[in-house]
Amino acid sequence: MLSRKNSESLFETAKTLFPGGVNSPVRAFKSVDGVPLFMKKGDGPRIWDEDDNEFIDFCCSWGPLILGHNHPSVRTKIEETLQNGTSFGAPTKLENELGDLIVKNNPFVDKIRFVSSGTEAVMSAIRLARGYTGRDKIVKFDGCYHGHYDSLLVKAGSGLATFGTSSSAGVPEVFSNETIVLPLNDRDAVKKAIADHGSEIACIVIEPIPANNGLLLQEKSYLEFLREICNENGILLFFDEVISGFRVAFAGAAELYGIKPDLVTYGKIIGGGLPVGAYGASDEIMSHISPLGDVYQAGTLSGNPVAMSAGIAQLSECLKEGFYQDQEERTKKLVNKINVFSQSKNYEFEMFTIGSIFWLAFSKADAIRSADEIRAESMNDFKRLYAILLDEGVYLGPSGYEVGFVSKAHTSEILDEVADKFCKALTVVFEG
Ligand SMILES: *Cc1c(COP(=O)(O)O)cnc(C)c1O
Repeated sequence: MLSRKNSESLFETAKTLFPGGVNSPVRAFKSVDGVPLFMKKGDGPRIWDEDDNEFIDFCCSWGPLILGHNHPSVRTKIEETLQNGTSFGAPTKLENELGDLIVKNNPFVDKIRFVSSGTEAVMSAIRLARGYTGRDKIVKFDGCYHGHYDSLLVKAGSGLATFGTSSSAGVPEVFSNETIVLPLNDRDAVKKAIADHGSEIACIVIEPIPANNGLLLQEKSYLEFLREICNENGILLFFDEVISGFRVAFAGAAELYGIKPDLVTYGKIIGGGLPVGAYGASDEIMSHISPLGDVYQAGTLSGNPVAMSAGIAQLSECLKEGFYQDQEERTKKLVNKINVFSQSKNYEFEMFTIGSIFWLAFSKADAIRSADEIRAESMNDFKRLYAILLDEGVYLGPSGYEVGFVSKAHTSEILDEVADKFCKALTVVFEG
């Protein structure tokens, strides 16, 4: 068993300082047993907690660390920039450098604006969609997460209600009334919402690769259908690529599927482990943002030079020949090995994957495409698997609804070892 003495004591102190002892809820280990592990160090694919337990990390800070921890080129670039101070509130050359890296290598955006988190990017892009179209309503999907912006903390209303209800206290009903929540992978639901409210809808926002509530892979033809129906109705198609951007391809799911969104948001990987988000669109749409246009959006620390540096270093690595192919190949090998084992034993378990993302589904279904196809009880199996893997030195995000991330630092050898640990752990879960 892991020693958790120091983490336990730190958590006790943290609870006197922060609600639930954490600064972001999923860190609290509420869905798995035990206290959260307090981390003190990361290097490559490995992390160490305050009790000196060592883990192979597949949380990777929830996605940002596509090169693994403490990557030398990211660290060096940050250190260089730090010699000259940390922030000016005036433009810097580093913003141009990162902006140029992104825009030059991304056919879907002419201009971007840097912000400091994924939530902020989404919030700003929604305001832009409304300001640009002059429409107030938005459509989102059950099973997609877009950060904690009021208009998107909305779940499907009960019964046949078209409009959503707030999924958080403190969100006024007048906000959720402007948000239509639909199931994923259901064309009729989209058609009906548009038949009823088409001329009031500013945008349809979707994670083109929904990866915050399991991995609910959508068919390309469904995303193409959304593209078309948006075109026909003057609705902006908004891809929230905060996870998928720079993860499945440099220009994200848009590049992978070859579908051009009207609006796109990035976060996570873009900042190389520091707080950065961005939203982007065509010149025409982006010209509506202040100071050019009448949609206001600003940020004291936006485009922060230290954060830009981390992003520049990380994205430069991602642009190297074969980067994404190599990421996908190693991830597929890991997933295939575990799936072949699970199938040979007839376990009710399968790993789904795309790019270097994977998700553990306690299911035998060929595909899981909507939130209601995930069995809530299957989370008990996840909890058992989680505890065993943690003891074996494998760290996953502490919830069965979260996906795992493979970084460049996860070599084939390491992934082979991890696959063996998974197979052993599955045997214990399913056979006791
Ligand atoms: C993580 C995430 C967000 C929120 O980003 P934060 O940086 O946590 O605010 C928004 N959308 C998607 C798709 C995400 O994965």
